[in-house]
Amino acid sequence: MADDCLFCRIVRKEIPVNFVAEDEHSVAFKDINPQAPVHILVIPREHVASLDQAKDAAMLGRLSLMAAEIARKEGVAAGGYRTVMNTNSHAGQTVFHVHLHLLGGRSMHWPPG
Ligand code: AMP
Ligand code: ZN
Repeated sequence: MADDCLFCRIVRKEIPVNFVAEDEHSVAFKDINPQAPVHILVIPREHVASLDQAKDAAMLGRLSLMAAEIARKEGVAAGGYRTVMNTNSHAGQTVFHVHLHLLGGRSMHWPPG
């Protein structure tokens, strides 16, 4: 846990956010600035700054599986969705607590911008 990390504060419920899914390892909540009809962030409860710092394969796998479960629950799995993990500045990472974006409910472009 990092005292001054925004997502650690969300995990600790110091910032009131509705979790769309949670278990002992991970939590998921709506992105405050949605880029698609469904835009949910899935994060580990444990503080890890970025994918570049991650060492726990199970933690990373759990983020993907929770995103897939939410996509089914939100009704976007059959149509398709995108999961994105931005890492460091060229990718536009702004919050340095590792998180998986789940984006769905519209067609996506490729390559990404
Ligand atoms: P990234 O740019 O990949 O680091 O993603 C950080 C994401 O966190 C952005 O999409 C923000 O809109 C989102 N975000 C920032 N603050 C909050 C918050 N308080 N609640 C929910 N999402 C947030
Ligand atoms: Zn954190």
